[in-house]
Amino acid sequence: MIIVSIISGTLILGISLAEQTSSMEENIIQHHIVVANVASQSIEAGYFAQIWPFETLKEISECESVLFWWVVKPDGEILRADDTAMWGKQINDESLGTSKTVVKDSVSPKTGENIKLIVHPLDIGEEGEQWTFYLGISLESVVDARNKMIVDGVGFFIVILIVVIFISFYFTKTVTRPITTLTEGAKAISQGDLEYNIKIETKDEIGKLADAFNKMSGKLKESRSKLENYSKNLEKQVEERTRELNEKITESKQSEAATLSILEDMHIIHEGLIKSQKRIKLQNIKLKKLDRIKSDFLNVTSHELRTPMSAIKGYVQMVMKQTLGNITEEQKKALNIVLRNTDRLDHLIQDILDISRLESGTMKFIPEKTDIKTMVKETVETMQSSADLKHITINAEIEDEMPELTIDQERIKQVIINIISNAIKFSPDGSIINVQAKKDKNNILFGVQDFGRGIPEDKQKKIFETFYQVDSGMDRKFGGAGLGLAISRGIVLAHGGQIWADSIIGKGSTFYFTLPLRSVVDLEEKFKEIDIFGLKPGGI
Ligand code: ADP
Repeated sequence: MIIVSIISGTLILGISLAEQTSSMEENIIQHHIVVANVASQSIEAGYFAQIWPFETLKEISECESVLFWWVVKPDGEILRADDTAMWGKQINDESLGTSKTVVKDSVSPKTGENIKLIVHPLDIGEEGEQWTFYLGISLESVVDARNKMIVDGVGFFIVILIVVIFISFYFTKTVTRPITTLTEGAKAISQGDLEYNIKIETKDEIGKLADAFNKMSGKLKESRSKLENYSKNLEKQVEERTRELNEKITESKQSEAATLSILEDMHIIHEGLIKSQKRIKLQNIKLKKLDRIKSDFLNVTSHELRTPMSAIKGYVQMVMKQTLGNITEEQKKALNIVLRNTDRLDHLIQDILDISRLESGTMKFIPEKTDIKTMVKETVETMQSSADLKHITINAEIEDEMPELTIDQERIKQVIINIISNAIKFSPDGSIINVQAKKDKNNILFGVQDFGRGIPEDKQKKIFETFYQVDSGMDRKFGGAGLGLAISRGIVLAHGGQIWADSIIGKGSTFYFTLPLRSVVDLEEKFKEIDIFGLKPGGI
């Protein structure tokens, strides 16, 4: 910077000195031309007035830069000169008798130094004769002036140079250096050195900029440390997640293996199940076959038994009526026993037939509109004679407004008779049996309550199974083979109802069954839908 200033200053000074020198020389020459002119005019005026202009020429002579002056005749003789020694001397000069001012380089005749010679025409003398005024001037004055100017210029230049150096120094200190420092700082910061602190203490814009840079690097440092912390946390989290993920992968691999093994097991189980299912189906088919064979056998046997049974009954009755001859009282009693047992046998055969029909789904139902009240009343009346034998009172409580139901009346009567006859059978002499029929929600609820021996709780469901008796040894004495309730259940279910017992040992039992209020129009169809004994295809 300083070097540039010096070079430019020197150039400017050089150019300006050259210009000043040349213009100064010019000015001096012009000034002396004027002097020569004034001198010429004074000489011309004095010559014509016969007064020699001593004063003027003396003044000219005293002028520092004037070395000599001559008034030269046309023939080259010096008429007058500042130095009297030159008077009358002859000169030979090409500019002698010039009609216009000539300025030229020459050599001083006294000292031999280089001079400027101003040759100026003088209009005196005869016509056609041209006098000449010579003025020798020293170039030293010009050189002096120039030297002075150079000295002045150099001085000025030095002053300027000092000022420039000072300004440059100041500029360097206040602007360039801070900018360099700032640049270095910015570079360091941009390369990631956030610890770098730019040291500029000036209060100017650069100082503020450095401050801003320092603050910015501080903030950047803060952000970087936050970022580093965040990234560390992130790394930790990623590690944690990766670990968890690996654990999960291991777990899932284990679960997968476990699932595969379970699936394999399940496959084996499934195959086993399929095999078992096939076996069960086969067994089921076999069972059904057996069941059908059993039903067919029972059917056939029952029919076959009934025919001789009817014959036996007919003949016994005939004998008892003494149509075939008189019989004794003893014989009558014996025949009565035969008749009673025939009835029981007949009843058993009827029950076996019913069960086999229910099981095979071939029981015939004849639906008809039935007045419930009448039906229950009639049934109770039928049972009254049996109850009377044990002095048992049957109370019938039937709701007045009973709707008509489409049911197989005879079969439902069979159910009621079976339940009431059981109640009579298992009630003590002289006890009471309550028969009830009422509307209950969407059903007619039938109930037969006795105060007999009761049924243990764990057997209250089993008594509806075929051939089941609570105490078979004892119950058989009452007559029956454990079929009545199984048949009743089949008939009730076929009508869309339910049947169950509610009993307390020693206190008595109540048997309930329901019939739905809506008419069961197609009992046959309904019956086919219901798997009464779980023996229909798919029933097991
Ligand atoms: P059973 O013809 O043997 O009476 P049921 O199917 O009608 O066959 O009855 C099955 C068994 O239920 C009876 O043998 C008896 O043990 C029991 N049982 C039925 N009704 C009553 C009742 N009212 N009180 C006590 N026990 C009963």
